[in-house]
Amino acid sequence: MLTNKYLLGVYETVKARNPGEPEFQQAVEEVLESLQPLVETHPEYEKSGVIEAFVEPERFISFRVPWYDDNGKLRINRGYRVQFNSAIGPYKGGLRFHPTVCPSVIKFLGFEQILKNSLTTLPMGGGKGGSDFDPKGKSDAEVMRFCQSFMTELYRHIGQFTDVPAGDIGVGAREIGYMFGQYKRITDRFDAGVLTGKSLSYGGSLVRPEATGYGLCYFTQEMLSCMKKDSFEGKTVVISGAGNVAIFATEKATALGAKVVALCDSTGYIHDPNGINLDVVKDIKLNRRARISEYVKEVPSAEYHDGCKGIWTIKCDIALPCATQNELDEESAKILVKNGVCCVAEGANMPCTPEATKVFLDAGVLFGPAKAANAGGVATSGLEMSQNSLRLSWTFEEVDEKLQGIMKNIFHNAYDASVTCGKEGNLVVGANVAGFIKVADAMMRHGF
Ligand code: NDP
Repeated sequence: MLTNKYLLGVYETVKARNPGEPEFQQAVEEVLESLQPLVETHPEYEKSGVIEAFVEPERFISFRVPWYDDNGKLRINRGYRVQFNSAIGPYKGGLRFHPTVCPSVIKFLGFEQILKNSLTTLPMGGGKGGSDFDPKGKSDAEVMRFCQSFMTELYRHIGQFTDVPAGDIGVGAREIGYMFGQYKRITDRFDAGVLTGKSLSYGGSLVRPEATGYGLCYFTQEMLSCMKKDSFEGKTVVISGAGNVAIFATEKATALGAKVVALCDSTGYIHDPNGINLDVVKDIKLNRRARISEYVKEVPSAEYHDGCKGIWTIKCDIALPCATQNELDEESAKILVKNGVCCVAEGANMPCTPEATKVFLDAGVLFGPAKAANAGGVATSGLEMSQNSLRLSWTFEEVDEKLQGIMKNIFHNAYDASVTCGKEGNLVVGANVAGFIKVADAMMRHGF
C-alpha cells in the first residue's frame, strides 16, 4: 500500500492530471509503492523533484490517420506516440494496433517501458505508440494503406537517435515492413535503425521474433534455479495468448522440458493435456490468422472453451500470462494458488491485476513482473540496433547467447535490489527500484 506522504502527494497529482486513465494510474501507483523504501532512505529523490518529472511524459503526440478501405470508403483512426523518457537513450518501445488503444493504455505502456529498458542495461529510453485500428479481418492491402498513412505522420517524430518504435499487439513483421517502406519513401533514406522488428532481408536481427517468449523462459528458468533450486523440467505450464509472445514461450518452455497444456486468444482457450502441438498453433495463428478454436479440428483429443478466464482454472505448476493487461484477476490468482502453482511470470505487460499480484506474493509463489520477465524483446531490439550501427549481422547462436546473458542479469539485478530494499525475493520491488535508480541518476545529472 502507498503510505509515504510525499509519494501519495505525487500520486494524487498524477490522478488529477490524468483523469479517466485507469491503466496509467495503476502502473504509476505500483511503481511509487515499490519506491517507498528507497525514498525513505535516500532523501535526495524527494529533494530534487525527480519523481514528479519521472511520472510526466516528455511529449505526447496524437494524430489523425485517414485511410481508404477496399470499398473506397474513407476511414479515420487515431494514432499516438508517447515519448516518455529519454534520460538514458533514445525513446524505444513498440506500436500497438488494437481497438482498445487510448491515451491511458499508451501512457501505461510507455511508463513501464522506461524501467524495463533501463533494466536491460542497454542505452534505451522509454516510449510507446499505436492506434485504435483493428487489423483483424482487414485485407493485406487495407493494412498496408493504414500503415502508410500512420507513418506519413509518425515519420517526423522518429529517428535512430530520437525514437525507435517496434512491434507489439497487432504489429508484427508485416506491419513493420509497410511502415519501414513508407519511411524510406518519404525521407529518401535507408535508415535501418529507425524501426526494430524488421525482417532479415532488410536489417532485422535473428532471434527478434522469438526474443520476448524465449527471454521470458530464460528469466523464469533463472528465477526457479536461484530461488527454488528447480527448473522447467517435468512441469505443467499454462500460457495465455496465442500471439508472438505466447507462441515462442511455448516453444522454449517445451524445449526446456515442460509440458504446455493450454493457450488462448481473445475468444476462448484450448486445453490439450497431451501438450500443445505448436506446429498446428503456428499454422493457425501465423499463417492463416484464424481463431484458436480451429485447433480442436486438427487435434480432436483437445478441448475448446469459449471465454478466456477459464484458462486459469487448469491445474499447473507454472503460469505465464502472455495476452494483455489485467487478464489475470484476484479470483483467478486464488484458484491458481489453490491448484498448487509455484511460479508465475508475466509475458504480457501488466497482465496481473494488483490484487492478483498480492495473492501470489502473499502465498510465496515466485513472481516475475513484466518489466523484468518480458524485457527480452526490447533487449533484442537493442541488439538489432547495435547490428544496424555496426552494419553486420550476428548468428542465431550469438544473439541467443547474448539474450540469455541479459535475462540472467535482469533477474540478478532485480533480486539484488529487492535484498537492498529489505524485501528479499520481491521482484516487483526489485525491478522497479533497479530500473528507477539508473534513470533518476541520469535525469538529475542532466538538470531540469
Ligand atoms: P500478439 O498480437 O501477437 O498476440 C496477442 C495475443 O493475445 C493474441 O492471441 C490475442 O488474441 C490475445 N489477446 C488479446 N487480447 C486478449 C484478451 N482480452 N483476452 C485474451 N486474449 C487476448 O501480441 P504479442 O504477443 O506481441 O503481445 C502480447 C503481450 O506481450 C502484450 O501485452 C504486449 O504488450 C506484450 N509484449 C510484447 C512484446 C513483443 O516483443 N511482441 C514485448 C514485450 C511485451 P486475438 O488473436 O484474438 O486478438
